[in-house]
Amino acid sequence: MRRNKSHIKKQRHVLWSKKEKRLLFISGITCLLIISLGYYSSIKRSIKYENAYKAYEGMEVPDSVVCMISNLVKPIAMSSITVQNDVYWGCCDKCLNRLNYNIGNVQFATDPYSGKRLKKSEAIIHINPSDKRTVLYFESEESYDNFLVHINN
Ligand SMILES: [Zn+2]
Repeated sequence: MRRNKSHIKKQRHVLWSKKEKRLLFISGITCLLIISLGYYSSIKRSIKYENAYKAYEGMEVPDSVVCMISNLVKPIAMSSITVQNDVYWGCCDKCLNRLNYNIGNVQFATDPYSGKRLKKSEAIIHINPSDKRTVLYFESEESYDNFLVHINN
């Protein structure tokens, strides 16, 4: 009888001690908290991004909210760089550096309606109707209007 009892006690200890259980519970809660915090901030971030482009739907997008490398409207403070009197906007030093040296022809875009090659610094910028987080560069408002007619037909 005595042997049996000690055997049970030993088994219990091997499974989870009270301390271990508490530790497990705390780390479980912590994990859950971190996951939900990450999830929450990613939702918040995507809402922020969504609102960023929504503000400019249908109107000309100011250069200063566009990262001309990713062609995204970003809800963060952008920086500009002046290259031979042309002002380009980017979200970080890396982007500005690429714009400064025109690495990969990033200073230029093609008007999706006229097919004309443009300097992004001189273009009329509008939200891309088929990918609203990104922008398109047009040579004129007229070209943008024609583009809208073209894609809606
Ligand atoms: Zn950027």
